[in-house]
Amino acid sequence: MVDPRIEIRQGDITKIRVDAIVNAANQSLLGGGGVDGAIHRAAGPRLLEACTALNGCPVGDAKITGGYDLPAKYVIHAVGPIWHGGLRNEKEMLASCYQKSLQLAVDHDCKTIAFPNISTGIYRFPKKEAAEVAIGKVRDFLTHHASIEKVVFVCFDEENLLTYQHFLDK
Ligand code: ADP
Repeated sequence: MVDPRIEIRQGDITKIRVDAIVNAANQSLLGGGGVDGAIHRAAGPRLLEACTALNGCPVGDAKITGGYDLPAKYVIHAVGPIWHGGLRNEKEMLASCYQKSLQLAVDHDCKTIAFPNISTGIYRFPKKEAAEVAIGKVRDFLTHHASIEKVVFVCFDEENLLTYQHFLDK
């Protein structure tokens, strides 16, 4: 089923003007490589200061800060699971990241949210499985939350873009 509130875009999530962008963070919340590094560079040093005060975040959970120098008002730092073959509840933990992020967004009156492809970079989650989890969870959440106007999946690489297009058309 197609929900017109779900959009796919290829590009850099730090450039997107939405109420909240989601970061694929690690448990320390103190920055890292990939999209995390890009978000910290674009948001400026006040983001690291805010993250330091959060004392980390468990896998499958999320915490929120301001967006500082970003076009987005908030950054939601979600900690995805590292892929270990699929027998360590990786899918459930990834689904939980999306659920917790969306709930935080609603709690802060965000109407537009952008997600990167959490866990599909350094954390090696297979892209097809990750896309199924992400789209399934977002679709499910949207059916119960009319206040959200738009969820953008920002795909950095073409493989993720094609994978998301495939599952969204289903
Ligand atoms: P993880 O550790 O959760 O795997 P990564 O940052 O390594 O996090 O990768 C998550 C996804 O974010 C990957 O698909 C990667 O291609 C993508 N990515 C990297 N930089 C950006 C960016 N600037 N904007 C959006 N997505 C990005």
